[in-house]
Amino acid sequence: MEKFSKIILQWFKKHGRKDLPWQQAISPYRVWISEIMLQQTQVNTVIPYYQKFMKQFPDVKSLAKAHEDQVLHLWTGLGYYARARNLHKAAKIVLREFKGEFPNTLESLQLLPGIGRSTAGAILSIAFQKPAAILDGNVKRVLSRFLAINNIDMLWTHAESYLPKKNPHNYAQAMMDLGAMICTRTKPKCDLCPLEKYCEASLTDRISEFPGKKITKVLPIKQTILLVLKNKLGQVLLEKRPSTGIWGGLWSLPEFEDQKAILKKYAGIKKLKILAPFRHTFSHYHLDITPIEGQLERVKHDGGVWFDPQKPSKLGLSAPVKKILMGVT
Ligand code: SF4
Repeated sequence: MEKFSKIILQWFKKHGRKDLPWQQAISPYRVWISEIMLQQTQVNTVIPYYQKFMKQFPDVKSLAKAHEDQVLHLWTGLGYYARARNLHKAAKIVLREFKGEFPNTLESLQLLPGIGRSTAGAILSIAFQKPAAILDGNVKRVLSRFLAINNIDMLWTHAESYLPKKNPHNYAQAMMDLGAMICTRTKPKCDLCPLEKYCEASLTDRISEFPGKKITKVLPIKQTILLVLKNKLGQVLLEKRPSTGIWGGLWSLPEFEDQKAILKKYAGIKKLKILAPFRHTFSHYHLDITPIEGQLERVKHDGGVWFDPQKPSKLGLSAPVKKILMGVT
């Protein structure tokens, strides 16, 4: 449907975003990093992370050669850390299997860890200027409302049928911008939307039905204790978490089920002090965290590191652990 892409491209010329950092000096690597960071995260949050990441890892080779801790450190606070671990793994594959050149087909891109159909489509269209459909959260919302369809396979079929032959990069960016800026989750600005005259959901007053409502789950609540174990220099013991599970591969405060377990492991601690508990929410549960502080003259530990909150070293930390460490300085 040529008319659809024509309307979208005209709108982009006037209103689309053209000055985002990843829209400058476009390369598959730069687009890829931005697309992964933008999954589950808003543009304004991503920008400073993206800039720091690019400064440290300007190309796929520097990323592939980095230590995982350096990569996770730059991701600290962005959440969904599997994204960072997958980026690192994928960079190594691109260097080893593709001689550092990004693959340029939908199929080969999707072989890389962390790249699904929509991210592959975004890299192909924006970096390689090849028409390829995308269906991230923003684009899905626009198309679902425009067509009054919730079926995902049908949305993919339509997304492909609307692709323009020319300027696929602008078209891809325009669709994402339209979803982020106009066809927003709540209170879409239909009066500013170039599709208003043809939008099925708007014309039939059924916008709230599209995209299909997610069933809001009542999240279960779990509890944990994180031990802030200090030595006499005021340094805090951190342990590396296993690469799978929450905060996989990040450095963390040792985790315990109860105070008894702490005293069993570190018998010499005389007094434990309970710090302010707080809640951290993951997509699938709430975690109520109680930090507990203790001090030991000498601590035997297996493979941990002493972290100096006054002079923080570059380690990948989860947001809650960072919050606790900032509070104990
Ligand atoms: S008219 Fe409204 S609901 Fe339809 S695509 Fe535009 S902003 Fe979204």
